[in-house]
Amino acid sequence: MKNNNITVVMTGGTIGSTIKDGTINVSDEPVILREYRRLYGDDTKFRIIAPFNILSENCCPKTWCRLGRVIADINDDSDGIIITHGTDTLAYTAAYIAMVFKGTKRPIVIVSSDLPPGEKGSNGIYNFKAAVDFIENENITGVFAAYRDMGGRDRVYLASRIVEADTYTDSFSAYGGCPYGEMENGHFIRYANAVNPKAFMLKGGEALDITELTNSVLMIRSYPGIDYGAFDLKTKPSAILHCMYHSGTAWEYGLTEFIKRCKAEGIDVYLCCYKSEEGAKYATARAIIASGGIPLYRISAEAAYVKLVLAYNQHKCSPIEFMKNDVYFETVNA
Ligand code: ASP
Repeated sequence: MKNNNITVVMTGGTIGSTIKDGTINVSDEPVILREYRRLYGDDTKFRIIAPFNILSENCCPKTWCRLGRVIADINDDSDGIIITHGTDTLAYTAAYIAMVFKGTKRPIVIVSSDLPPGEKGSNGIYNFKAAVDFIENENITGVFAAYRDMGGRDRVYLASRIVEADTYTDSFSAYGGCPYGEMENGHFIRYANAVNPKAFMLKGGEALDITELTNSVLMIRSYPGIDYGAFDLKTKPSAILHCMYHSGTAWEYGLTEFIKRCKAEGIDVYLCCYKSEEGAKYATARAIIASGGIPLYRISAEAAYVKLVLAYNQHKCSPIEFMKNDVYFETVNA
């Protein structure tokens, strides 16, 4: 008989939902735990905390902060923490938890589900079981997300690298091209890919202060025909994250003029992102950087957004300085 204790922080999402009259909505019952007990028994002791119960599309930076405070206050002897969360904004919450709890002494695993637990084809129970096994059977600390992909593989992601799920397959992917590893027969196998840090490297570091996230960041994505004039900057963001095409480019005239307008308003514009500081760049990219855009390197848009929100709501260094240093493996270095 195992004697493991796990703290489960339930926040809602499909993994905490049921379907009634064709509508998926959060339930007051811990549906995933009921399903777990039914299938795997009650050897593992779970302590449940449910700070809020919402669909994750209703999350915002203030919600992350609330969750961060709840996790920081966990003062029990549990072996690990599982956060149940909606898939839609999981990549953002995961990046926040990864960065804020980078020095965690016990594993934190974020899990979600494509369909409510108990519904035919739902992967929630596998994701939850993968998290339980990871905590019980491995001695690896850090912040992770576990999710079964379309091919039935129980992938484990570094929480600062997981990228939003595909709208057709509902599967997540990893920034840098390779998940951290997978669970097989209850055990973790790390993918020995150059982008993946060794498990011992995930330890240590000091948790960040949990600050109120009141200063906002506007995120804009490049697409052909974008009308920068539609951004009137009336509600003035603290910074703008401009997501570039994959080769670090965007519409040169439109973006250079927009950056000048932002600079005149005192708003920093970050460009996400570039593969390297050196080497050849497209003429369009050079012109955009020369107009004052601040390049970011080898980071997902999701992690860059979260990091910017943290950067503009902390007082230890300038936001530009904050953005330069890797917080918790969000930067791919290979
Ligand atoms: N809309 C849901 C959410 O993010 C989707 C899910 O959990 O799968 O809360």
